[in-house]
Amino acid sequence: MRLRFCGAARTVTGSCHLVQTDGGLNLLLDCGLFQGRQAYIDDWNMRFAFVPKEIDAVILSHAHIDHAGRIPKLVKEGFRGPIYCTPATHALVAPLLLDCAHIQQKDSEYHNKHRKRQGLPPLDPLYTPNDVHRCLQMFQTVPYENWFSLNSKVRFQFRDAGHILGSATVSIETDGPHGLRLGFTGDVGRPDRPILRDPNPMLPCDILISESTYGDKLHPDRHREEAMLWEIVYDTCFQRLGKLLIPAFSLGRTQEILYLLNRLDQQKLLRHLPVFLDSPLSVDITAIYRKHLDCFDDEIRQLLLTDPNPFGFPQLTFITDVEQSKQLNDYPGPAIIISASGMAEAGRIVHHIKNNIEDERCTILFVGHCAEGTLGWRLRQGINPVRVLGQHKTVKARIAALDGFSAHADQLELMQFLKPLLTSGLKQLFLVHGTYESQIALQQLLQPVCGDIISIPDFGQEVVV
Ligand SMILES: [Zn+2]
Repeated sequence: MRLRFCGAARTVTGSCHLVQTDGGLNLLLDCGLFQGRQAYIDDWNMRFAFVPKEIDAVILSHAHIDHAGRIPKLVKEGFRGPIYCTPATHALVAPLLLDCAHIQQKDSEYHNKHRKRQGLPPLDPLYTPNDVHRCLQMFQTVPYENWFSLNSKVRFQFRDAGHILGSATVSIETDGPHGLRLGFTGDVGRPDRPILRDPNPMLPCDILISESTYGDKLHPDRHREEAMLWEIVYDTCFQRLGKLLIPAFSLGRTQEILYLLNRLDQQKLLRHLPVFLDSPLSVDITAIYRKHLDCFDDEIRQLLLTDPNPFGFPQLTFITDVEQSKQLNDYPGPAIIISASGMAEAGRIVHHIKNNIEDERCTILFVGHCAEGTLGWRLRQGINPVRVLGQHKTVKARIAALDGFSAHADQLELMQFLKPLLTSGLKQLFLVHGTYESQIALQQLLQPVCGDIISIPDFGQEVVV
């Protein structure tokens, strides 16, 4: 078997690994978009480190754009095989890829304006909604823990990764004289999180490709985060009578916040405080969550016995319409507004921030990582004043952050997830999907357990296993 690392190599985005079996099958594990600094990523996203039409099948670990976001481009460039994923991932990829296509189109319109001024020819977007519709026909679902045969000698299985709805680890088995089992973690979730089940242990394997996003970091305790969320709601909405703005990623983070607010409501703490979910994509994804109760953990299943809608409560309003969103500007009283994007670099949340940032009664609460240079990052850094939609704004609102909502295992959780695999015959471990520093830290931590079997492959590197 031959492996080629075609993305997420010494970096955290663009997950994509080529597996070539001895029988000549070319399998792609994920086909993700590179996300980060524009000039750098545009170049990476435009070309593949393989020939798309030579790929026989894609095995997709989960719906996050940095794992699935280049599938429409792969199809556009000639890939014609099946794309395997779990049923919940399949439900999520449609709205996420369409949203991504719209962003690609807007980005290319913006860049082409500049190119025109410089006398350069326009560039096509990476892909369009039509390309997305075309690739959506090629998906095929495989439930967790079912072996699926790709041919008489190669099969694979998904197991619950506990990272986001539908997320999976992958085990590929090959027969023959050099038969082996290859494991791919995708993104590993966390134990004891609300909503989703804990990560299911992977099957023992000979070769493992593992993520390492938080290979050098520990997350804060979950229960402290819940108490802090209530403290912020109480301070903002009941003491200062202001608005609480929560920039949140549409997938995962938004549903966790809704679920926690639902719990506060059940404890009669929210009273009649209005909550608005102002994002069409978040509304769509929350509806998909509600249809996949089979992916939930025992805690939420127990809740379902008394509360059929764990992501909703009487005073929650879903907003998809732009005009309704604009009307929130004039909403007088205290309220919670949850809106995308999580880093506040785009989307409706930026308008809400612009309208409320100079109001000292308000709070802007970040519940996820903000990449350097984004508005979220500038606010978290305490930069004041800031530019919001072209205007200088004095930051008078409270800026708060809760970092315990991560969907990724931290260093300790990753170590606990990997340990049984390291001690049951693993021969080679490749660390991907992490910064080089976090990979080195994880390598040093794991080496005493498994010895010298860990590599940190570079982009395009090929190995025979
Ligand atoms: Zn992910």
